[in-house]
Amino acid sequence: MSIRLRLALWYTAVLGGTLVIFSLLLYLLMLRHLIDEGDANIASRAQHIASTVRVETAAPSTVQRVELPPIDAFESPGIYVQVVQTNGTVVAHSDNLGGQELPGDERAFAVAHAGHGVFYTAIVAGEQVRVYVEPLVASGRVIGFVQVGRSHAEAYVVLDRLRLGLAGVGMVSLLLAGAIAWAVAGGALRPIASMTQTARAIALSRGFSRRLGVTTSRDELGQLSRTFNEMLASLEEAYATQQRFIADASHELRTPLTAVRANLELLDRQGADLPGSERQALITAATGEADRMARLVADLLSLARADAGQKLRMRPIELDRLLLEVYGDARLLAKGLTMAIREIDEASLLGDPDRLKQLILILVDNAIRYTPAGGEVGLSLRKDGATAVLEVSDTGIGISAQDMPHVFERFFRADRARARDAAGTGLGLAIAKWIIEEHGGDITVESELGKGSTFAVRLPLMSH
Ligand code: ADP
Repeated sequence: MSIRLRLALWYTAVLGGTLVIFSLLLYLLMLRHLIDEGDANIASRAQHIASTVRVETAAPSTVQRVELPPIDAFESPGIYVQVVQTNGTVVAHSDNLGGQELPGDERAFAVAHAGHGVFYTAIVAGEQVRVYVEPLVASGRVIGFVQVGRSHAEAYVVLDRLRLGLAGVGMVSLLLAGAIAWAVAGGALRPIASMTQTARAIALSRGFSRRLGVTTSRDELGQLSRTFNEMLASLEEAYATQQRFIADASHELRTPLTAVRANLELLDRQGADLPGSERQALITAATGEADRMARLVADLLSLARADAGQKLRMRPIELDRLLLEVYGDARLLAKGLTMAIREIDEASLLGDPDRLKQLILILVDNAIRYTPAGGEVGLSLRKDGATAVLEVSDTGIGISAQDMPHVFERFFRADRARARDAAGTGLGLAIAKWIIEEHGGDITVESELGKGSTFAVRLPLMSH
């Protein structure tokens, strides 16, 4: 069942329930009121008649003549008047009774005989009639009763009309309320329908540049659509980044592949005719390109894992020992450079040793690559409060201010011509940054063009 239908039904049901309770109360109050009013009416008529009867008595105890007031003056449609003697003989009755009689009631007559007015219900011509009996007293004796009856029919007519009116008004209100609820719910939910449509269209076409139009309202749906649009914007950016990454990666892979292929083709066609040294040069070049490609693929794999949210395997490690290990390996590569550890503190932290080694290697590798022969590469590790600060500095070519903000971007390479070799992939610092962030640290660079650069990595130490 749709939310719209559910809302409309709930709204109508709640209103319906309220109307039923209200109508019931009104009906009961009206019923009570009609009964009370009718009772008061017939009682007062009976008392009035009883008080205006004139009785002539011959002796103190014998009634000679009873003079009734004109009874018909008391009748009105549905009101019957009748006077009876204590033995039940009808003395007079209103015209509207015709040939009928208001039946007596023994118990009521007994009460009236004792001098009290009393109500009872009788049936006249198949109709329920409420009767009031008032004693007729002459010379201190009850000589008869005045009965005033009132048909229930009139009250029933009023109640019937009330019932009909309530039912009619109730039905119309419910229909109206249902229709209004349906329309209001439809209007309120329209943005959701449009969101669903847009989301579906985006899912089908991957058109992340599309946006929802309803962003002005300040209600919940407005908020939802704004959030949805923000999500689309970040999806669009992520998608564009991914596309760029794939394009860059393919481009980067194509260059060494083309070189390898060209060299192999040359060897294939003319290998036999070429002098040994040239043949060797071709093979060395192809191998070099293949190595570069292998590095590139390894870097891409690291980043792909990072993007897939791969978690590192953290355990307690000694960063100083890792640094020494990398130093030992890297010294062999740093041909023509002076490489030194300037300062080394003990630093234990929670980390992934392979990744941290990779991180140091990336920084040292860059320092070597971008420092001309004769330069210096310095390493240091010190503690600063609860952080370990690892610095890799060089006296190399430096980074220009305009390149500085981009060095951690994937595939960014500044001024390749000035590097010692073209072996870089442009992914090193992006991977380094990911590793550092996974360890809860950060990295900063200071550099001056032509003078050298210092990369400082801050990592949280293990708390004891
Ligand atoms: P690459 O594989 O090209 O070294 P990186 O992501 O490691 O890729 O570095 C990105 C760019 O940052 C490099 O191409 C280089 O221009 C610059 N860079 C990194 N380290 C240094 C450094 N120590 N000295 C000068 N430039 C550097």
